[in-house]
Amino acid sequence: MLRRPAFAGAAHPRRYGRLVTDRLQVNPIKCTAHGVCAELLPELIKLDPWGYPIIAQGEVPEELDAHARRAVASCPTLALLVEKSRD
Ligand code: SF4
Repeated sequence: MLRRPAFAGAAHPRRYGRLVTDRLQVNPIKCTAHGVCAELLPELIKLDPWGYPIIAQGEVPEELDAHARRAVASCPTLALLVEKSRD
């Protein structure tokens, strides 16, 4: 009888390696340039001269994952998102 590996369908695949990566995205229509995201995550988000965020390209490093999620949760217009993608 074939059995699925114990980790198949695990809730958090990072425990077994980085199978899923997170990328930050801004919905430019929802964003109203509060700038909260750049204050909470200056490593990945800068503001342009009008206060709109400029997101660093690439994936969110694991060590900044919690900060990225806090920035997403703090966005007052829900314009900031974490998009998951499979490597
Ligand atoms: S916190 Fe949200 S609304 Fe404010 S600049 Fe960042 S993405 Fe835009």
